[in-house]
Amino acid sequence: MSAHTVLKKIYGYDQFRPGQEEIIDSIVNGRDTLAILPTGGGKSVCYQIPALMLPGTTLVISPLISLMKDQVDALTRLGVSAAYLNSSLSQQQYRETLAKAFNGEYELLYIAPERFDAPMFQQLAEHMRIPLIAIDEAHCVSQWGHDFRPSYRQLALAISRMDNRPVVAAFTATATQEVAEDIVAMLKLQSPSSFVTGFARPNLSLSVVTGVNKMSFLTQFLRERTEQSGIIYTATRKEAESVYERINELGYRVELYHGGLSDAARAEAQELFRFDQSKIIVATNAFGMGIDKPNVRYVLHWQVPGDLESYYQEAGRAGRDGDESECILLFDASDLFIHRYLIEQGMGDDNRKAVQASKLHEMTSYCRTDSCLQQFIVDYFGERSVEPCGKCSSCLDTSEKVDRTQDALMAMSCVARMRGRFGVTMVAKVLKGSSDKRLLAANLQQLSTYGLMKQAPEKEIVEWLNWLVAEQYLQLSSGQYPVVSLAERARDVIEGKEQVWQRRRSKVKQLLSNSSQDASPIFAALKDWRRQQAALEQIPPFMICSDATLRLIAEAAPASLEQLMNVKGIGQAKATKYGDDIITIVQPFRQQASSATKEAHIQASSAKTKTIEQDHAVNDPDKKPSYMLSYDSFMSGLTIEQIREQRGFSQQTVEKHILRAIEEGFPMDWSRLFNAEQEELIQEATASVDASLLRNIKEALPSSITYLQIQAVLLKQSL
Ligand code: ADP
Ligand code: ZN
Repeated sequence: MSAHTVLKKIYGYDQFRPGQEEIIDSIVNGRDTLAILPTGGGKSVCYQIPALMLPGTTLVISPLISLMKDQVDALTRLGVSAAYLNSSLSQQQYRETLAKAFNGEYELLYIAPERFDAPMFQQLAEHMRIPLIAIDEAHCVSQWGHDFRPSYRQLALAISRMDNRPVVAAFTATATQEVAEDIVAMLKLQSPSSFVTGFARPNLSLSVVTGVNKMSFLTQFLRERTEQSGIIYTATRKEAESVYERINELGYRVELYHGGLSDAARAEAQELFRFDQSKIIVATNAFGMGIDKPNVRYVLHWQVPGDLESYYQEAGRAGRDGDESECILLFDASDLFIHRYLIEQGMGDDNRKAVQASKLHEMTSYCRTDSCLQQFIVDYFGERSVEPCGKCSSCLDTSEKVDRTQDALMAMSCVARMRGRFGVTMVAKVLKGSSDKRLLAANLQQLSTYGLMKQAPEKEIVEWLNWLVAEQYLQLSSGQYPVVSLAERARDVIEGKEQVWQRRRSKVKQLLSNSSQDASPIFAALKDWRRQQAALEQIPPFMICSDATLRLIAEAAPASLEQLMNVKGIGQAKATKYGDDIITIVQPFRQQASSATKEAHIQASSAKTKTIEQDHAVNDPDKKPSYMLSYDSFMSGLTIEQIREQRGFSQQTVEKHILRAIEEGFPMDWSRLFNAEQEELIQEATASVDASLLRNIKEALPSSITYLQIQAVLLKQSL
């Protein structure tokens, strides 16, 4: 029987999925094979069909007991004789199964890796005819993977010592280049044919959204999707709870799922969601293993996950039924702190930490790239020559592209002169012309590129360098403290063969052409209005809103209060107070500018789907969020201590509330948080240590300076 006939006769499918036929061919022709297919891509068929075509019993190594049982049940229903050996069997059952296996009664025998040692292998090999060993989840053999299992190492050893070793085929859904190489090496695959296919998911629209107030974004997002089922992933249990509460307040039926809940509560949440009784579930990454709900229309990530494997696995739970679905990632660079912190504090050895840090860098590059997001992901998994998807937030971004070749050349020339010995932060300091102690100690002020970008704020230089990394002009070494060097793509720019274009309304603010951007008519009009308004209220203009916020408003050119509230720095209060004014001002410019915003794309794509606005009894949307109540009390003159007592929260919570309000652009009387001397001390400390960790700053300061003061100074700088 041909592979195709088996597919049709046994499984009832008409066509192979991408890659399946080639993989089956390779195995049947006796070649060791490495197959990398995404989850749901149809891996099992790739070893089951050869098992049916080849004489003897195929061994399948699979780490998940429940999965083994499911597979064996499914095969049995298809009329294929199969069994498994794992710790769930009694001694009696185990012996019986083994006896039948020796008797040649099974086409496939599933075995847990722990069962596998050399003697066991030898025993099986002596008594059975084994044409093929299929190893599922083969990335578990690699320390570079996210899921290393020592038993897989044993297994590799045992197979390599077998007399007349069968064909070995390794399968996995996640393997970067390094992991793939590791699998081949550890399992000693003999000149294997490798396949990487099927990672693109044409029915998914991927988006990265930056610079929005997440809560107001979510509010509008849900309002436009009341009929759709979706998953919202948060990084922490606490956040899951607060997002869950918020959605509850908005009047939607929603479930909560995280590792801190009882088994019963989780099971119930999962079932209600699966049966569409609740359309929304807010969850940590504890949710999803083994859930197969086909009609999930969106997966929204509240925060950036730690690596692309996790992201794509979670996002990929959207649209299993093949219908159009959305995967949205809300990216805020400050969310990276927590990942860096977790890596630093984590249990792993330095090697492991280095791997995690590199993965986090790749993940952030995904958030920053102007290139097709679908391409970026499949490329990460090693699949080449996939066309741009035409529907991700990058592909749909029609904002003007700006020629940044000169800026790129400055950065590249500086990177080249620093000879791959420093990280992004130090390169930025050199370009800025900073007199940082470490910089001077390394004599970097002597470089001809020192101070080449001195007009630009250091933070923007860092962003610019990060963007160049994301677009693969620069590259980072792996490791926890990666150094930056020129990538292949830089050569073409240096040789004048390629220009560097960046989206004007990209996630990275303009660097050197800030002045020209500030001169945009819409920005100028907004500034005029702000000046008049400030005069009217007798307050300084920045208390109405920061330049950064004003710039975001200019870019978004909001047409409604909702849209305005999506702009970072505009909360409920400001929207109410100034919204009408702002919308009137930007209205004449909207025609020219509106195409530019990513938010607009999301709205446009959702407009295609049916929107039923008034379906839900929405609770009072004007209800003040908790952090604003703390902020209001603070502004009315209460101390943090008093607010803490009044509201019954911890000091930390109240502090967080106040910082959050500042972050959103609400005015602050800084002198109540720190004095000029403290501010200067903190600024100095920030410049002299690796400021990506607050702890470093704190340690460089007298102990009387609090975390709150440090965070407040940092916020003030960034506004
Ligand atoms: P995974 O790669 O995640 O192990 P599975 O092997 O479980 O994926 O396959 C996922 C689903 O796709 C299963 O329901 C399987 O029967 C189905 N499937 C596999 N190959 C095909 C095909 N060629 N046509 C249609 N459905 C297929
Ligand atoms: Zn795309």
